[in-house]
Amino acid sequence: MNELRKDYITDKWVIIASERSKRPHEFKTPKEENNAQKCFFCPGKEHMTPPEICKVEKGSKWIIRVIPNKFPAVTPKGIADIKTDNTFYTYASAYGRHEIVIDTNEHGKELEDLTERHIKKILEIFVQRIDVLMKDSQIDYVSIFKNKGKSAGASIAHAHSQIIAYNNIPSAIKNELESSYRYYVLNKKCAFCDIISKEKNSHRRVLETKDTVAFTPYASRFPFEVWLFPKRHIAGIGELNEDELLDFSASLKKILTKLKEIGNVPYNILFHSMTDNSKNFHFHVEILPRLTVWAGFELETGTIINPVSPEDAAKFYRNEM
Ligand SMILES: [Zn+2]
Ligand SMILES: [Zn+2]
Repeated sequence: MNELRKDYITDKWVIIASERSKRPHEFKTPKEENNAQKCFFCPGKEHMTPPEICKVEKGSKWIIRVIPNKFPAVTPKGIADIKTDNTFYTYASAYGRHEIVIDTNEHGKELEDLTERHIKKILEIFVQRIDVLMKDSQIDYVSIFKNKGKSAGASIAHAHSQIIAYNNIPSAIKNELESSYRYYVLNKKCAFCDIISKEKNSHRRVLETKDTVAFTPYASRFPFEVWLFPKRHIAGIGELNEDELLDFSASLKKILTKLKEIGNVPYNILFHSMTDNSKNFHFHVEILPRLTVWAGFELETGTIINPVSPEDAAKFYRNEM
């Protein structure tokens, strides 16, 4: 029987449609064109991108490069303050900065193909950029995410991540913050710390290392969705120490490498990170494989139909299926 499930703390619902359940290999994954000749994220094409913001070098070559997005969603211009006119019209300039992190100089390599140390360097770049971008008092949130594959929204095949720092706290984060705050007031504990301690021994456990825990969330919206948490209670990625960052990178690599067994899976990775040290927010990364299409029901109800139960997905990650 299919099951209606609610997210741990927020008012988000899913239908786990295990009656339609597919085995991992039954998902069709797209073959995508991956032409390095035309790619302007490749070494030698630096002149075709806006001037770089910073880079990580190895010898005389860059291995990670940060550039402004040529087609930014937000720009540091206009009026950042949000205003409401005549009750219904709330607006501001889309103020902020939109940056691209080119993850590697090797075209065709994905995040999971990079070494743990290389992934750690990418995460360190995120930390540095958050620090710089949050200095602008008109910026309220720094969104960090990665799109891989066309159906996950990537328009350029060369592995990259994006940073959009802008003048609003997004509603997805606000919902998490408000729900976890309510939990904190009632229980004097972080909801996520409690969720981690339950899930690390549940049927949804994916992995546990010295510093991290990963599991498939109870109300997974996507087949094979995984959430990765540091064990230590911290609100933002910037609070991870060197060892934790490396361990976090290794866990991320492990999850994505396993996912690759299904095929060329498009995915989004979302970094839910805060810059104040909120007691009720716990930094985490959501890995969202994009193997299903949201249609009328999802748009009508906001309730997502997921054909793979998180319990089955976790078995896949634990090599039990
Ligand atoms: Zn390239
Ligand atoms: Zn916590």
